[in-house]
Amino acid sequence: MPRFKIYGADSNTAKDTSITVAANSPDDAESIAVNQGLFVSRVVEVEVVEREVQPQVPAYQQPIPKRKGIATCKVCDSGIMIPMRVYIMSQPVVAIGYIILIPFLMSMVAEVGSLILSYINEWPVVPEFTVYTFGIIFALTFVGSLLGWLLIMRKKVLRCNKCGAIVNIY
Ligand SMILES: [Zn+2]
Repeated sequence: MPRFKIYGADSNTAKDTSITVAANSPDDAESIAVNQGLFVSRVVEVEVVEREVQPQVPAYQQPIPKRKGIATCKVCDSGIMIPMRVYIMSQPVVAIGYIILIPFLMSMVAEVGSLILSYINEWPVVPEFTVYTFGIIFALTFVGSLLGWLLIMRKKVLRCNKCGAIVNIY
């Protein structure tokens, strides 16, 4: 069975890596690599590589030939575009988002909790103004939580594992 060396990027770390597998065909070798969590960029039959004279250019610097289903980076021409989620807002805004979201979310939990408690205990008379106050406070904390959540929202993009260029996916 011929052996193949498969170049690509690790799907978890986005780092360049390569593995060698035995397979009947380049396509089989590629499926094995994909199952192992590799974004495949190049499949090379090892026997062919070993017969070659030492290449002048290291393998990782050679241009990646176009392969079906894998997007190569248009900016640096050597990276692989890897799908991931990134924050829509800039880092300081995301930090503010978390600062807003966490206390508002906690107070919402506390409000719902106290509502359930008062229901279980069947507290006899709840004055009308308390109900209104509760409604207003709950509405405010809901709007606050929504605002914080909007600031920490993420979007799906393709990001180059070499130069970091980002392409939006719609
Ligand atoms: Zn790039």
